Amino acid sequence: METANASPTPAPPSARPLDGRVAIVTGSTSGIGLGIASGLAEAGATIVLNGFGDAAEIQTLCHELAARHDVAVRYDDANMTDPAAIAAMVERTERLFGPVDILVNNAGIQHVAPIEEFPLEKWDAIMAINLSAVFHTTRAVLPEMKRRGWGRIVNIASAHGLIGSPFKSAYVAAKHGVVGFTKVTALETAENGITCNAVCPGYVWTPLVEKQVAQQAAAHGLPEDEVVQKVFLHDQPNRKFATVAEIAGTVTFLCGPAAGSITGTSISVDGGWTAH
Ligand code: NAD
Repeated sequence: METANASPTPAPPSARPLDGRVAIVTGSTSGIGLGIASGLAEAGATIVLNGFGDAAEIQTLCHELAARHDVAVRYDDANMTDPAAIAAMVERTERLFGPVDILVNNAGIQHVAPIEEFPLEKWDAIMAINLSAVFHTTRAVLPEMKRRGWGRIVNIASAHGLIGSPFKSAYVAAKHGVVGFTKVTALETAENGITCNAVCPGYVWTPLVEKQVAQQAAAHGLPEDEVVQKVFLHDQPNRKFATVAEIAGTVTFLCGPAAGSITGTSISVDGGWTAH
């Protein structure tokens, strides 16, 4: 029998805290986005994968994710440079699964060159994919999140959303923009049960970084492992790459019940890089 002083036994935390939630993860056919999609699926969320890649391989990814976690998974090929395609992706998701509960803006590209040699089309593409797409997806999901009084938006920024590095002008400008946009989204939605946060990874071993290592090795005439240690991990005090699983775990945490009061912030997952 329960007495007035006895504290009720707390319910055990659900193994699938995101059961029934609908999540879009942009740029999730590869790397960090795929890891995030997998983490959210493991927590029970229905998943919309997005990004480029071989059609058959993407279908295999969808089937594997659905079977492994017993959730619905579909693929949407919206190009993040195209605002109309982004709006259509959100509408298709709503028709198929219902309103979007969780939005993870992860799609991103990189190009490295001095400012005066930076190709204009690369600048425009980085701004469109890394920054403007975050605005277009957010504005498309907010009306339903506000109407239902619940939503989680996580923007994958970067350590380069907080500090600069030479030769990465477009990327650094776009990622600083994402951190700023995250704050504004959080302030505009704070009374609506919606949170919006940025995750700022340091270097994570993914195809995006693998390409940069190869480019730098060729440019400097150095072996790739030397480039990794001297160029990439030089700034990362723990001297190791962050893992996709660590970024995915941070995102799943931000979407879960324990993070309900965390909004408008940037969480660094960078081995101490931005503590310098
Ligand atoms: P990745 O190259 O492995 O994956 C990028 C994903 O974005 C892919 O699925 C790709 O198909 C998709 N994509 C690219 N252009 C697109 C477009 N126009 N429309 C839709 N999808 C598109 O890269 P990653 O390393 O996994 O990076 C993911 C995010 O994490 C990016 O925003 C990146 O800036 C950020 N980030 C990565 C690192 C790192 O070290 N890897 C560090 C900090 C931040």
